[in-house]
Amino acid sequence: MSTLLITHPSSLLHEMGEGHPECPERIQAVMDHLGAEDFAPLLREIAPGVTLEAMLRVHSVRYVKALEDCAPREGYFEIDADTCMNSSTWSAAQHAAGGATSAVDAVFQGRAEKAFVAMRPPGHHAGQESAMGFCFLNNVAIAARHAIVGHGVERVAIVDFDVHHGNGTQEIFYSDRQVLYCSSHEMPLFPGTGRPEDTGHFNQICNVAMQAGDDGTVMREAFRDIILPRVHDFAPDLILVSAGFDAHKHDPLGNLALEPDDFYWMTGKLGDLAHRHCHDRMVSVLEGGYDLEGLAQSAGAHVRALMGR
Ligand SMILES: [Zn+2]
Repeated sequence: MSTLLITHPSSLLHEMGEGHPECPERIQAVMDHLGAEDFAPLLREIAPGVTLEAMLRVHSVRYVKALEDCAPREGYFEIDADTCMNSSTWSAAQHAAGGATSAVDAVFQGRAEKAFVAMRPPGHHAGQESAMGFCFLNNVAIAARHAIVGHGVERVAIVDFDVHHGNGTQEIFYSDRQVLYCSSHEMPLFPGTGRPEDTGHFNQICNVAMQAGDDGTVMREAFRDIILPRVHDFAPDLILVSAGFDAHKHDPLGNLALEPDDFYWMTGKLGDLAHRHCHDRMVSVLEGGYDLEGLAQSAGAHVRALMGR
């Protein structure tokens, strides 16, 4: 079973100011961890930039043009209190989305069965026309539409275990019967969306609300009872993962209590469904995770499970 790891140097250049939790060191921590001997069998590729065509399957021309125009030559351009652009942000965002589409290409062209895109900025809070919550382009949404339009598949399941709700992903796919979006997230917490009653126009949105303090036992129950059966019933052609590791017990932005082994377990279970429905095809993109040690350990466990080790 071959697993692909995709990254790009621009992920280390986008930064939003001193002390910001969504920092270049996150990628450094993950890549240092994945440099260990255990991970030697990974295929490694550098991400291309995303094509305009792929971006416009999710975002409007007006929005893409605005991001391009806002990118500063120096200093910062502030979009909201916690989301801003420096001179490298636009390139980093385009490569993070390009990493996601190229991972989709790899699993459909048979270069790999599974892939992890270790890049930033993250994407799941970005809507069709909105940047927020450290996100600019919705990487996982661009990957889903790339699979459907670019590779002609019928159904894509997105599973998002970031501690925050992926409001952008939900908004983009609210009326799309080809995409199942399942999210487990802490509530109440930023961005405030993700009520279990929000089920999409075709009952293809599945929100599972967790409470502060919930640990891996509660998370595994939510997966076993709700999320995994939903993915199974949907019978997707591809499973995408919005892999945020901020549900880790030490994360400063969330209050759940997951251990690296819980991420290993969830990933393994999704891998079983990918085996059953998707010829093993599964693409995971990094979202949050702000405790550097917890992030590195959890992403490592996630990638080990993708590798089937
Ligand atoms: Zn998050």
